[in-house]
Amino acid sequence: MILVLKQGTPKPAVESLCDWLTSAYGVQTSPIFGSSMTIVGLVGDTSNIPIETLELQDTVERVMKVQEPYKRANRKFHPDNTLIQIGDVTVGTDQVCVIAGPCSVESEEQVAGIAALVKSAGAVMLRGGAFKPRSSPYAFQGLKAEGLMYMKKARQVTGLPVVSEITNPSQLELFLEFVDVIQVGTRNMQNFELLKELGRIRRPILLKRGFANTIDELLMSAEYIMNGGNSEVILCERGIRTFETSTRNTLDISAIPVLKSRTHLPVFVDPSHAAGYAVYVEPLSRAAIAAGADGLIIEVHNDPPRALSDGQQSLTPEAFAALMNGLRPIAAAIGRTI
Ligand code: PEP
Ligand code: MN
Repeated sequence: MILVLKQGTPKPAVESLCDWLTSAYGVQTSPIFGSSMTIVGLVGDTSNIPIETLELQDTVERVMKVQEPYKRANRKFHPDNTLIQIGDVTVGTDQVCVIAGPCSVESEEQVAGIAALVKSAGAVMLRGGAFKPRSSPYAFQGLKAEGLMYMKKARQVTGLPVVSEITNPSQLELFLEFVDVIQVGTRNMQNFELLKELGRIRRPILLKRGFANTIDELLMSAEYIMNGGNSEVILCERGIRTFETSTRNTLDISAIPVLKSRTHLPVFVDPSHAAGYAVYVEPLSRAAIAAGADGLIIEVHNDPPRALSDGQQSLTPEAFAALMNGLRPIAAAIGRTI
């Protein structure tokens, strides 16, 4: 439920309205003070709040029911785009943010070398997996804490904030020490216990869409994190399972405009895991920017044929630099920069 308040309602009146709603009906309130209007989102069981009583309050202009099960992630609750500050980078503005780096951190030198190269090509954050959720238990599982340490060193040298995937709540302390943006991978999008833990911290989350999950399920997973008090969630479309086998997954381009209309959260795209092949990464990146994505996360490896994971879909640093140059005119065509 959303209350649109009368123009010019003073802050103390908004606060006393919120206090009354919480004490009388047990709902949580989230007031948003916009430039032209103030709205108050109500979360919890609103079924026993009489709408007529709300409409009688002299601060309330209008009462709107929110049908969707996601509330805090809903654009109706927060009409403006959410901006997320990560180091010097602001996600969610007209600047399209590109995260790049290896699928897995393999050594200190590897990640440091790639970090410098992707930075010079225009990437604003560094990715690198240290805890790898592999389909096979025999495949490389990641360097774990050591890998996160190399990511932190690369950040110290380049200044690039680092993004890495968490696979278990027990790793949280390590991630809080080493990582600027905590990635939740496709396989963990509905690991609700993990999501609840991530709601308790104050660190931006990159939440990837489950490969067999709907857009609304992605939004409900964001809701889990936000309901705990962590409102800094970046959504990421990374391809879904379909009958098509020519690509590793099928990039759901429609998810971008659909998400942008349903939520105020930033929307990123991972063309690497969608495509599965390096050759398709550039065209999918272009399509994602044209469709309104706020950012991209792209796998780049110094020696793709020898990569310990996802070499087939990884770009060389040179190919990544060429991709970035090709994206600039597309961003410019829709009034954005990159
Ligand atoms: C990754 O980013 O390396 C990764 C494993 O991604 P996803 O969870 O989308 O498969
Ligand atoms: Mn990967």
